[in-house]
Parts: sequence; C-alpha cells; structure tokens
Amino acid sequence: MTSSAGTSRPTSARRRALVVGAGISGLSAATALHSAGWDPVIVERSEARRRGGYFIAMYGCGRIAAERIGLKGIRNRMTTSGTYQVDRQGRRRAALGFQDLPGGPWMMLRGDVEQAAFEALPATVELRFDTSPTGLDQDADGATVTLYDSRNERSTTERFDLVVGADGLRSTVRKLAWGPDEDYLRPLGFMITAFELPEALPGLPSQDGAILSEPGRSFWVFPFADHPPTVLFSYQTDDVAAERARAKAVGWPAGSASSTDPSRPAT
Ligand SMILES: Cc1cc2nc3c(=O)[nH]c(=O)nc-3n(C[C@H](O)[C@H](O)[C@H](O)COP(=O)(O)OP(=O)(O)OC[C@H]3O[C@@H](n4cnc5c(N)ncnc54)[C@H](O)[C@@H]3O)c2cc1C
Repeated sequence: MTSSAGTSRPTSARRRALVVGAGISGLSAATALHSAGWDPVIVERSEARRRGGYFIAMYGCGRIAAERIGLKGIRNRMTTSGTYQVDRQGRRRAALGFQDLPGGPWMMLRGDVEQAAFEALPATVELRFDTSPTGLDQDADGATVTLYDSRNERSTTERFDLVVGADGLRSTVRKLAWGPDEDYLRPLGFMITAFELPEALPGLPSQDGAILSEPGRSFWVFPFADHPPTVLFSYQTDDVAAERARAKAVGWPAGSASSTDPSRPAT
C-alpha cells in the first residue's frame, strides 16, 4: 500500500485510489474512500461478483462498522433451534454452536454482507472485472500500477495515489509490494471447503446445526431461519499445496470458486 500524503497536490483535487479485490473488504473500502472524498477504482480478478460463502458470525462492532459504512439490509438469520454433536452411529447430543457464543453474534450468510456491501457502493465507483495488477512501482507521490485485463488480453499502466490490497489471503498486492506468499503465510496443515446446500440434509431438520468431529477432520452444518443450511468441511493434511492442486485437477478451483452448487465448493 502506498500513499501520496504530504505531496504538493492541491487539496481540492480528488485523489485516486486503486482497490484490488471486490470482496467484502474491497467493496467496503471503496465506499469509505468515496465518502472521504477519494475516487476509488476497484479491480476484480474474477469475471463476476463472488457471492458465495457459508456463514459469518457478525458481532456488535462489525454491525456498527457496517452501519457507519452505509451497509443496509443485513439481518440475523439465527434459528431458534440448537446445534448437535453427531457421530457416525447417528447419535446426537446437544452441543455449543456459534449462536451460543457470548456477545450475541448475528448468524448470517457471507453473501448477505457481500450483497449489502455491493448495494452500498456508489454508482459512480468504477468496478472492473477480469482485471488484476501485474506490476506495482511505488514512489514518494503514489504508485504506477500495471493492470492486466484477461478478457481483452490487454495491459494498461495507470497512476494512483493509494493502492489498497483487498485481494484476500494470497494477495497479489502483497506479493508485488513485499514478496512471495511463503514469506507471509504459515500453513496450519488444514484444508477447508464450504458450500451451500440446496435443501436440508436427510435426517437433520433444517433448523438444527450439526457438528461431526473426528481426529483430523470435521464437518459442520450451519442452520439458518430462512435459508437452506450451509456446510464447512475441514481436514488435516501434511501438504496443503498438493491438496489444492488435487482440488484443481478434479475441477474444484481451490481458493477461487464461488457457487451455490454443492458440487463446487465456495472456498
Ligand atoms: C467466495 C468466497 C466465500 C467465502 N465465504 C466465507 C464464509 O462464508 N465465511 C467466512 O468466514 N469467510 C468466507 N470467506 C473468506 C473471506 O475471505 C472472509 O470472510 C472475509 O470476508 C474477508 O474478505 P476479503 O474481502 O478481505 O477477502 P476475500 O473475500 O478473499 O476477497 C478477495 C477478493 O479479491 C479477489 N482477488 C484475489 N486476487 C486478486 C487479484 N490478483 N486481482 C484482483 N482481484 C483479486 C478475489 O477474487 C476476491 O473477490 C470467503 C471468501 C470467498 C472469496
């Protein structure tokens, strides 16, 4: 990230910000920058919005932040039922779910927040899909960024006063500004995959949450009052890179898919 604060630019001129990534952070950052008098441009590598996800527990400070940014319409989808620990013999006993945590978190779909953040984005903010930075040169006044448009197979070079890396865990902005992922990521030896179910699982009422947890793996079903359940599946592995490659080989683009189709995991 780089900034031109302190340069000789006239204070009346609107400054230009590049926001990389149109996830919740990128959309929210662009809206907040626009409110503060900036001209943000969002670039998103995907060809369309990434609406998927499984669940987000939103606490009070998150709700206040969302309100301040202008996100409207987010709501608690918590069920009145409980969460159960289940085993392969079909036994179940009451367990603690996220909805039982102190602080009264709201149970929401990630897509609820993404939708609200998208709707809050001023219409004048430019959002370019199929676009990703490939070069970043910082200087005292800002940054010169090379942007690659994969749809038109074209690169352009533009000046920005600020570059915001909102491009997720394996951030390209971080790579370009500071170095490779290996210097910043510490693999915890787990794979996770998440998806939305089209309907409740057989034998599990849609209002109930479930946790199947065994050594090295777990399977969570998150219930919602007015939406089919979603799933988070995780398992331990010694080689995360190999598992990601395996997911890609069978057509599940690990870390880049977003779908409500249960055969295509969201993360
Ligand atoms: C589809 C999806 C579903 C998710 N579901 C959940 C969930 O249900 N619950 C949860 O807790 N977390 C979920 N996550 C993780 C999510 O990252 C965090 O919850 C949180 O929302 C962080 O958001 P973010 O905007 O910082 O990053 P992300 O949500 O990771 O968004 C980053 C965005 O940047 C884009 N991008 C990446 N690289 C580039 C590039 N080089 N150039 C341009 N754009 C780029 C990505 O396509 C993506 O749209 C999900 C992430 C994704 C992408």
